[in-house]
Amino acid sequence: MRAARFVVLAVFCAMAVAVASWLQSPGAPFTALEFIGPLRAEPRPVDDSSGVPVSPDPAHPDVDAHAPLPAFVPKGGVLTNTEEAAAQGEEPVSPNAAAPTRDTTTGSVAPDHLQGTAVAAGAKSSKARPISIEVEPIPGLGTVEPPTAPVWPTFVGAKTLFGAAKVPAPLAPRAIGSYSRGCLAGAVELPIDGPAWQEMRLSRNRNWGHPELVSLVKRFAMDAQTLDGWPGLLVGDLAQPRGGPMVTGHASHQIGLDADIWLTPMPDRRLTEKEREELQATSMLDSTGLAVDPTIFTERQTALIKRAASYPEVERIFVHPAIKKALCKMADPVDRAWLGKVRPWFGHYYHFHIRIKCPEGFAGCTPQPPPGNEDGCGKEVDNWLARVIPAKEPAQPAPPPPVSKLKPPKPPLMLAELPKECRAVLSARPDPVKVPQEALLTPVQVKKALAKAASVHAALAKAAAVPGAKPPPSNLAARPALRPHVRKAATPDPKASDPK
Ligand SMILES: [Zn+2]
Repeated sequence: MRAARFVVLAVFCAMAVAVASWLQSPGAPFTALEFIGPLRAEPRPVDDSSGVPVSPDPAHPDVDAHAPLPAFVPKGGVLTNTEEAAAQGEEPVSPNAAAPTRDTTTGSVAPDHLQGTAVAAGAKSSKARPISIEVEPIPGLGTVEPPTAPVWPTFVGAKTLFGAAKVPAPLAPRAIGSYSRGCLAGAVELPIDGPAWQEMRLSRNRNWGHPELVSLVKRFAMDAQTLDGWPGLLVGDLAQPRGGPMVTGHASHQIGLDADIWLTPMPDRRLTEKEREELQATSMLDSTGLAVDPTIFTERQTALIKRAASYPEVERIFVHPAIKKALCKMADPVDRAWLGKVRPWFGHYYHFHIRIKCPEGFAGCTPQPPPGNEDGCGKEVDNWLARVIPAKEPAQPAPPPPVSKLKPPKPPLMLAELPKECRAVLSARPDPVKVPQEALLTPVQVKKALAKAASVHAALAKAAAVPGAKPPPSNLAARPALRPHVRKAATPDPKASDPK
């Protein structure tokens, strides 16, 4: 009985092997081991989200050691064999991508080629198993946008020329143009040290001004010290030796009539050059950014600003809206006329900005309308405060726009936009500033050049977006199977992997 059962079972097994062999491979008879192999390989650990094997099957090391496809990563717009990169000593794209040290067959391949290979490999052999193609994330490369970021033309703006001036133009003192579009002849230097002031950030070489401004700063420093008990002024930027726009900061300060004064009192010692570069200014605002900190902004600062406003040549003073609000509260209920000169403006929470009138008798300096007689403590300051963004949380950076929608950068102020006399100021000897031909472009020419670059870029972006068009190499990683962070098996379904 037992022997009979064994015979039946053996016959059954033999028949099963024969049938399977006949069904699958009539020309190449299978061994039992080859037949069983793939079945045993099926239940591999699977990633929940994609149904893709996530670790090699220990029973089939060949899947990882001899798979027809190595792990690929997109790199610089092409697909690169990670192992090859590692073997050649290139820096791996990610730590995970650098492991193996074998087979270095493939270089850069097109995605069609890659996926075609995967399909063929899966279809032609009964040994084929799902092949895990893992694409490692590339720092800074989220989704790939066709084409690459536009390259905009650059221009030699007036700030480059005036920023290069090391010494003033030895001409008659003259503020030329307007506060934010002009230059300065015959500037004088505010000494970096005085009995009641110290100049900060010496490396900028911006302690130059119209003689009237420099003498006002000196007088103000002495008055604040002797009359108000202020220890001394820490002086920020005045103007460059020949005025003009600056490479960094400030839209104004161009004609030698503006000066920045810190709201921090001067220490009772001479600061070193290094300290003058590195000493951080103190914000007068509290943590909300909407009001002053009353322990930092006190009556001493109020007296200082009031003193600055007392000079008839001072036309305006700019402070942060929260400082203006505090001044409104702290000012004497009767003596308020000076508040009209103090104007709310962006920034200006660690320093205030003094602007003097156009010096009398000089044509070519464009004055501003005098501020009104009101103290500006009503709606005006409240409206300004409403425009201040609270400082609670750092603003979320907006996602960058698609490359195709990038706008041309704002062009710099060109020399042609400044008064003609500013060319003479630049070329005054000694140490004239050379004006290259490119610096003479007009704003119209600059605008045209940018518009042309924008249209070229738009055309490229449009061409790349045409449906059915073969994507450029930079688009490779946009394919689902190759998207960063996605693990995906190459399936033997040609429709799923062939993008045509
Ligand atoms: Zn300023």
